[in-house]
Amino acid sequence: MIRDATALQELCSDAGALASAVVLPDPALPARLHSLFQLWETRHGGALPYIDTKLDTICDPFGHRPWARAALVIAFHAPPADSPLRNLPPARTGRPSGTIAAYALKEDYHVAGKRILLDIASRIGATQIETCVDAGPVPEVELAIAAGLGSRAPNCMVHLDGAGCAANLAILFTDLPLPRIPIPAHPDCPHCLRCLQACQNHALSAEGLDVRRCRSYLSGQFRGPLSWEQQLLLHDTLFGCSDCSHACPDDPAPACALRVDCLALLEMPTAELRRTIAGTAIEHSGTTLLKRNAVAILGTHSTPDERNTLRKIILPLCASPTIQQTIQNWP
Ligand code: SF4
Ligand code: SF4
Repeated sequence: MIRDATALQELCSDAGALASAVVLPDPALPARLHSLFQLWETRHGGALPYIDTKLDTICDPFGHRPWARAALVIAFHAPPADSPLRNLPPARTGRPSGTIAAYALKEDYHVAGKRILLDIASRIGATQIETCVDAGPVPEVELAIAAGLGSRAPNCMVHLDGAGCAANLAILFTDLPLPRIPIPAHPDCPHCLRCLQACQNHALSAEGLDVRRCRSYLSGQFRGPLSWEQQLLLHDTLFGCSDCSHACPDDPAPACALRVDCLALLEMPTAELRRTIAGTAIEHSGTTLLKRNAVAILGTHSTPDERNTLRKIILPLCASPTIQQTIQNWP
């Protein structure tokens, strides 16, 4: 069992974590989380069904893991990768193209985060663990803030001192009673508000994130057909948006998005597209959402006459009811 907090921090850093902190079970935590998530439900209920249906699990992370004696929270960047997404049809002059956020071109952060957590777990000798990397009913941001990893940024991310708010979070629940990692007195996010101003959809305000206006949510998490208003909000996003994170002056390395030709992407056989996105962060959203988003970009970047022509070309290419309905929602 590891008792020394500095040794734990060094071990996490050695495994690939940018920052690390520990949350211990706290009887006051569920009430605090319930009041935060009630606010979320009031504003966004129905936007993310897993929050509506798993609210009790989300708000009582230790109660639902009675064996867990600590949660280690880490921030990390997925390493660069030779991404297969670069094989997608590149943007061509004069034709509608869409963007894939730069983070999707790195190793899938779900995989990278899990690898780091498993490495840490084996080094500290934990016997019972659960790894959580943005895929399950776990309040990652709230646990990171409770642990003192960073401060809450106006774009609802966690701002890390000197590292901005683009890092990924991952949580390791463990049966070991970990020592609290001393957090250096980090200044809060200075609230320069550049992240708010960078959002072209005005999804961010003093009240927080209006998730239904967020391109990241619409492109990768919202399932089903897009209304015309949603297609306009998506603008040219094929997958992901990091505009607010990259606007942060503390972001060390804002990276370029990939531009992809939308019509050529729709013409790709679905099986080939599935193979191309396998092992990337887009795999979690799937081929239907990617093609649906390509359809939306084509629709919003065309004149009514061009849309009439496109309908005839695209409808036979798309068997999915989600995509067909998205086309039918064109004016
Ligand atoms: S991810 Fe993009 S759309 Fe969403 S809040 Fe940030 S800048 Fe706005
Ligand atoms: S852009 Fe400014 S307000 Fe937003 S997270 Fe960075 S420092 Fe904070």
